[in-house]
Amino acid sequence: MDSRVIAELILHLGRIASGDGLVAGLTPGQWAILRYFTRANRFSRTPSAFAAFHGTTRGTASQAIKSLVAQGFLMQTQSETDGRSVRLDLTDKARAIIANDPIEALVRATDALPPGVRGAFSHTLQRVLGQVVLETGKPLFGTCENCAHFEDDGCCKDGLAAYGCGFLNEPLMDEELDQLCVNFASDRSGPPRTPGVGVT
Ligand code: SF4
Repeated sequence: MDSRVIAELILHLGRIASGDGLVAGLTPGQWAILRYFTRANRFSRTPSAFAAFHGTTRGTASQAIKSLVAQGFLMQTQSETDGRSVRLDLTDKARAIIANDPIEALVRATDALPPGVRGAFSHTLQRVLGQVVLETGKPLFGTCENCAHFEDDGCCKDGLAAYGCGFLNEPLMDEELDQLCVNFASDRSGPPRTPGVGVT
């Protein structure tokens, strides 16, 4: 198949899967925000990290997030370490409707693929994403186990986390390892980044 046709299929799929009207009273853009804050780790649950992930301006992202805070879907708290930073978390009201996410049709279609096909599909999409991110200069979000900053000492110590983030110098819990991170680095030889990028 022609590469342009495949690219157009990916775009078309993304457009129709994200919905075109209100679902549970929320627009496709508002669902994108809730979806992001469901998957993002605690270092990435900020307006600027969402703006980077979604490819939008910080001002636009902040306005959209404020509206979800006002409607009771997101809860905003000040950072304990930096008074100018905020962290956003889903509220119980948001968790109660998250199963209505319009992309669930796409989730079901993907789930219906045989496991081997699903694995190869995921690998291919990751590879395409990596190339597009490189070419467009956008940040590549990823998860701890594939990150150059991930520290795994290989043992479990009583009462202590077995994992750590070498970039932020923070311990990591098991449940955080598959969450999306704005500080992800896929290559140790890549350019150094400043801790806290996107964390305001
Ligand atoms: S190890 Fe990487 S992905 Fe995990 S929190 Fe640190 S920078 Fe983020």
